[in-house]
Amino acid sequence: MRPRFHPRLINGPFDDPGLFIPFLFENQAILFDLGDNQALSSREILKISHAFVTHTHMDHFIGFDRILRLALGREKKLHLYGPRNFFKNVEGKLAAYSWNLVENYHYRLSLQLTEIHHDYLLTRTYICRNEFIPNEMADKEPFGTVLLQTPAYQVTAAVLDHGIPCLGLAIKEHFHININKDALAALALQTGPWLNEFKQALYADRDPTSPFEIKSASGRTESFQLGQLADQIAMISPGQKISYIADVAYNAANAEKIIALAKDSDQLFIEAAFLHAQQDLAAEKHHLTARQAGELAARCAARQFTIFHFSPRYIGQEELLYREANEAYALNQ
Ligand SMILES: [Zn+2]
Ligand SMILES: [Zn+2]
Repeated sequence: MRPRFHPRLINGPFDDPGLFIPFLFENQAILFDLGDNQALSSREILKISHAFVTHTHMDHFIGFDRILRLALGREKKLHLYGPRNFFKNVEGKLAAYSWNLVENYHYRLSLQLTEIHHDYLLTRTYICRNEFIPNEMADKEPFGTVLLQTPAYQVTAAVLDHGIPCLGLAIKEHFHININKDALAALALQTGPWLNEFKQALYADRDPTSPFEIKSASGRTESFQLGQLADQIAMISPGQKISYIADVAYNAANAEKIIALAKDSDQLFIEAAFLHAQQDLAAEKHHLTARQAGELAARCAARQFTIFHFSPRYIGQEELLYREANEAYALNQ
C-alpha cells in the first residue's frame, strides 16, 4: 500500500520539534508544531493548509513568522490551532509589525485561529487587509476530541499537561484507497488527476450508482458507474494513523489521554528529552524520559515509533536514548 501521509520530522532530534506531513499526489500538507522550519523549502511551506501548535514555548512557535512571511500577499486561508492563550500569542506576534500598506494587497490572506480549551473551541478570523484586527466575537463550539473533520481524514487532539496545557495530536484517514494498476491497464485507463476526483467521490460516500466520467489525455471521455469502477480498480484498507506527542510530563492522567489519542498508530512521534537516570530532572521540566516514551509507545500499540526533542546534554550519546526507548518498548509490548 502507498500511504497517503508522508510524515517527517523537520529537524534533527536536538533541534526544534516539528512534523511536516505532505499528502501523496496532493498539493497539501499539514504541520504539527511551528518551531524553526528553515529546513523546509518555500514550496513545502506554501503547501501547508493547517498548522497545529502543541504549545507556545519558543522552540515550538518561532517558525510562525516564516509561514506568515511566505503566505503574505497570497490568496490563502491558513488554519492555525493552539492551546489556551493562543489568540493572545498570535496577536502578540502580529503586533510586532506595521501593516499600513496591506489594504492595497490584491490577494487576500486570512488566518483562521482556533484556540483549544478542555471542552470547547474558540475560532476567530484575522484578515490581512484589515491589518489582522479581528472584528467579530470568537465563535464557540463544544470540543470532545475532533479538531478537523474532512471526508478523507480527521485530526484529533488531547489537552495534556506540560506545566501549561500542551496538545497531543493525531491524524487518521477514515480508510485507505489503493488503485490496482493492473485493473487500470485492463480497462485501458491512464493515471491522471481524475484519480484524485475518484478517491474524493469515494470518501464523500457518493451514490455508487451515480456516473463518473474520465477524460483521457487524448480528449476522449469515458463514462462509468462509480460503484462498478470502484469494484474494479479500488482496494480499500484501514486508514493510516500518525500521532505526535511533544512536551509532556509523565503522570497517570497524561498517560491515559496519550493512549486514548494515539492507540493503534501506524507511526507515533514522541518526545524523549532525558535518559531515565535523569528522571527527576525530566519531572521537574515536565518532559518524558526515553524509557517512559518507549513504554507509552508500547501501551499505545504503535506499530512504529520515533523519539525526538533530546536535551543537548546528550549530544554524541543519542544511541543511549534510542536504546533505552527500544528496550522499554520491547518490554511493555
Ligand atoms: Zn515546552
Ligand atoms: Zn520543547
